[in-house]
Amino acid sequence: MTLRPRSTTLVAGLLALLAGPAPRRADAQDAGAPRLVAALLGDTPLVRDLETLTDEIGGRATGSPANLRAVDWALGRFREAGVTVRREPFTMPGLWLERSAAATVQGDGIQFRPRIAALPFSTGTAAAGVTLPLVDAGRGADSDFARLGAAARGAFVLIETDELRDIDGLFREYNEAVGIERRAFAAGAGGLVYMSSRPNDLLARHNASTGLDTKHPMLMMERDAAARALRLLRAGQRLTLTAVLDLQSGPAYESYNVIGEIRGRSKPDEIVLIGAHLDSWDLGTGALDNGANAMMVLDIARQIHRLGLVPERTIRFALWSGEEQGLEGSFGYTRAHADELDHTVMASAYDIGTGRINGFFTGGRTDLLEPLARALAPVAGLGPFTPVNLPIVGTDNYDFMMQGVANLVANQESANYGPNYHARSDEFGQADLRQLRLNAAIAAAVTWGFATGDVTLPRQTAQQVDSLMRHTDLSDQMKTFGVWDAWVAGKRGRRR
Ligand SMILES: [Zn+2]
Repeated sequence: MTLRPRSTTLVAGLLALLAGPAPRRADAQDAGAPRLVAALLGDTPLVRDLETLTDEIGGRATGSPANLRAVDWALGRFREAGVTVRREPFTMPGLWLERSAAATVQGDGIQFRPRIAALPFSTGTAAAGVTLPLVDAGRGADSDFARLGAAARGAFVLIETDELRDIDGLFREYNEAVGIERRAFAAGAGGLVYMSSRPNDLLARHNASTGLDTKHPMLMMERDAAARALRLLRAGQRLTLTAVLDLQSGPAYESYNVIGEIRGRSKPDEIVLIGAHLDSWDLGTGALDNGANAMMVLDIARQIHRLGLVPERTIRFALWSGEEQGLEGSFGYTRAHADELDHTVMASAYDIGTGRINGFFTGGRTDLLEPLARALAPVAGLGPFTPVNLPIVGTDNYDFMMQGVANLVANQESANYGPNYHARSDEFGQADLRQLRLNAAIAAAVTWGFATGDVTLPRQTAQQVDSLMRHTDLSDQMKTFGVWDAWVAGKRGRRR
């Protein structure tokens, strides 16, 4: 049964329906979950907070003034809610922000100015820009570069893409980009241009697979203009592209996570963590990715405190920075809190917009399935929930997983997440506010269940982490998301 109330006034009537069959044991602890769920389905500041974060603070790329404003504002919101909170520093490996990006395509009697966006970690250009031949590199396959031969050398290679419709398409896009970028620069390309995978003139910031090691200008061109350029090239026209990329880049610097905490009553040293990243990319205002879930984490802390509920274990509420630029904030946390990882019972991540939570990725840990099912019992009516017992890379569970800490990533219906991903269109109006509230109830139940229930989830050894890599596609995902080299170098993940 999927419940989709039209307004919060309906919610009270739904509460009786939410719980599944009565639990076999009437634990005294279990009384907290229904109260918490009811509170989160009510009229909380969740939506207003999301509106403030997106409309007033706006896009908040790590390293930008807006990101620092978001951190300060979130600290204040935790404090206003009465929840203990800290600003915790971590090191970003390098600064990268786009100030502006412009392009001109020219040919014989042809001139047009497509909208473009630099790919994160692209190199910049001189103020006058860089002008190179623009060539049709098809899908960026080996055969495309073989066809181009010497013509790819020193040229902007233009890659045609499929329109992105859902999360599967998004993962496909990330997967394919690694090979496309490797082949392009092996062929001597002077720069790389993706046709935007979003319709019309919509742009998005798709991470370059080479991260801070990127040595060339890389950009996304609005779909309509890229299609026009490809038609012209395929009709035999010769074109050049002038790209002017005004970027702000710099060395390593300090950024900040916001870490709220509600201390546990009987097992304060055991930690259950719920996290969502506060940073975003900056073409839009980061409502789906990931303001909605960040504000959900804040609201869960607020409601637990407001109700006077005290968990058995300590709950940490993490609003990460640096996620979009390499999962850096959560990585920094795992380093700063290395001596607590043995007692970190579970770390969860919420990062797929406002589509319905339909289960959780459980990272290949069979021992997570039973406590997860128990934690979800109070919100069974919002299910069904299906666990996917595989590791997933791409959000802030990553370093916990690689450190052997039991971790969950909420799996969500694709909804409108894919088309708006990192795009100019990721704005407040895209968020499904009703579903966000229902997701908050689910996330609260899971958090509360792990923080109060009878849960034993020992940290995995380095051998167990290694085994996970050998028996799943984890290492391929690590290569896709640019975190493989750090593992190989022994800089990230549990090695002993
Ligand atoms: Zn995200």
